[in-house]
Amino acid sequence: MTKTPDQARPTPRAGIMDIEAYVPGKSAAPAGVAKVHKLSSNENPLGPSPKAVEAAREVAARLDVYPDGSARRLREAIGEAHGLNPGNIICSNGSDEILGLLAQTYLAPGDEAIITEHAFMVYKIYIQSAGAVPVTVREKDERTDIDAIIAAVTPRTRIVFLANPNNPTGTYVPFQEVRRLHAALPKDVLLVLDAAYAEYVRRNDYEAGIELAGSAQNVVMTRTFSKLGLGGARIGWMYGPMHIVDAINRIRGPFNVNATAIEAGIAAIRDRAHIELSVTHNEKWLSWLNEELTRLGLRVTPSVGNFVLIHFPDDGKHSAAAADDYLTARGYILRRVTGYGFPNALRMSVGTEEANRGVIDALETFLKS
Ligand SMILES: *Cc1c(COP(=O)(O)O)cnc(C)c1O
Repeated sequence: MTKTPDQARPTPRAGIMDIEAYVPGKSAAPAGVAKVHKLSSNENPLGPSPKAVEAAREVAARLDVYPDGSARRLREAIGEAHGLNPGNIICSNGSDEILGLLAQTYLAPGDEAIITEHAFMVYKIYIQSAGAVPVTVREKDERTDIDAIIAAVTPRTRIVFLANPNNPTGTYVPFQEVRRLHAALPKDVLLVLDAAYAEYVRRNDYEAGIELAGSAQNVVMTRTFSKLGLGGARIGWMYGPMHIVDAINRIRGPFNVNATAIEAGIAAIRDRAHIELSVTHNEKWLSWLNEELTRLGLRVTPSVGNFVLIHFPDDGKHSAAAADDYLTARGYILRRVTGYGFPNALRMSVGTEEANRGVIDALETFLKS
């Protein structure tokens, strides 16, 4: 269609307008609700480390000064906590940013990147924004099916994104399976191990991927501070081989991690007590929620993260949508997951004792209604 000069306007690159924007978890309840419990974004119910809050406060007086563009002290603190060479770490504005940078760096138009059926949604957005093609493979019982991924690899495959554990299912792949996947991948295909929930996993056959990312030339591990109490600070990081670090450093924003995030992050990762408290709280209430939800007759996908995926009955009366309305009206904000392929489920972050008990009580009444 020809346009007259005054109809002309900038047009996004091909494919951009096909992207469905990410919809974050809700945070508001209707007016009049006495107390709102936000259980929609897998934040830490214990809040941020008090030491991180103090560090953020202190940096406020120096907001005129640019941060260290390489976030060296934060990388050193991460390196110290995990036994890693800081030179192999890149910090980012949330791990979302590093996932996007990986896509920008390794995908060209027409390339393929593999994701799983119920995968964390940002992968698809970044794949598409690089002009590449997301190839979605089936899961088996809401779990990643390694054989399905291997079968989907073509000469055009450049990246495999694997959230382990995955969000919103909470299921994980034992590390032997991850190694089997890696062994089957061509050496020029990048395996991105997104271990956003690694701190919460309590399974002997689980590994976040530190060893593999430290030894293979085509594996990176991404991590985040968001699920441990610093979602608002936006801190993520990647660990991987030097040649990948070098490539990413060429395109990332020169000051992509802000001064507040750097100081809060350093204080948070050194606050082992707060991390342990958070993990212990989660362990206790994750299993409590599983038991209680099962007792109410609801199916729960077995989760190793800090959230549960709750499936609702198909009786027409007690759908996830109805439950969501019921809970929201009472101040309990859960996450609809229709966009993830679960139209009749809700994802609930493990909350405080008060929130967890409140949701179970409300659901018990709702299911009897
Ligand atoms: C929350 C989450 C992230 C990233 O969160 P950031 O806040 O951007 O660090 C990455 N992957 C998965 C699977 C997540 O659930």
